[in-house]
Amino acid sequence: MSSTASKAPAFSICVYCGSRSGVSPAYAEVAQRVGQWIGDHGGQLVYGGGNNGLMGLVAQSAAQAGARVVGIIPKALQTLENTRHACTELHVVDNMHERKRMMAERADAFIALPGGIGTFEEFFEVWTWRQLGYHDKPIGLLNTNGYYNGLIDFAQHSVGQGFLSEKQLDLVRFGTEPEEMLQALVQAAGFVPPAEFKNI
Ligand code: AMP
Repeated sequence: MSSTASKAPAFSICVYCGSRSGVSPAYAEVAQRVGQWIGDHGGQLVYGGGNNGLMGLVAQSAAQAGARVVGIIPKALQTLENTRHACTELHVVDNMHERKRMMAERADAFIALPGGIGTFEEFFEVWTWRQLGYHDKPIGLLNTNGYYNGLIDFAQHSVGQGFLSEKQLDLVRFGTEPEEMLQALVQAAGFVPPAEFKNI
């Protein structure tokens, strides 16, 4: 166990991202930068508990940078998603609903990276929960490599067509720089991350 993993984390970030790596190396790079930033700033990663794709990369780089890693995986997906047994805390839960509930509860803020249908669902769920007032935790979407351009355009189209309000759209921070986005989310959640935790 690393030196920081045994300390209470400064904050807890839930990362939603692909169980695949995507075609551009930019996706793997951003996943590694997110994990690294969380570890470097004394944080805790909460994620889906697998070893595949960007999910595995975030967990690996967070752990290497000294973060506590909390993995939460439904028992039926353990083989498919290649459970990361090296998590600081691994929770094997009964179903997807339990996983998502626990991930949301254990986090101070949410960040979605490029991903597929699972990532979309998790991101939209915490966004809808936020606009309904079920939680007030900050949410960010990392538009790496323009991956979410279509989604952002569609959300703006929805505002224009009167199905989404500007206020609802403003509940999500959109950005491309992981370190900047993480800093903003952690501060919006009411935490001041130590500048370079691992060097203290
Ligand atoms: P993906 O973005 O499709 O690669 O999936 C990323 C993660 O989201 C995986 O760990 C999936 O198990 C998870 N996930 C959460 N909810 C769902 C859902 N309703 N359908 C598919 N995957 C889901």
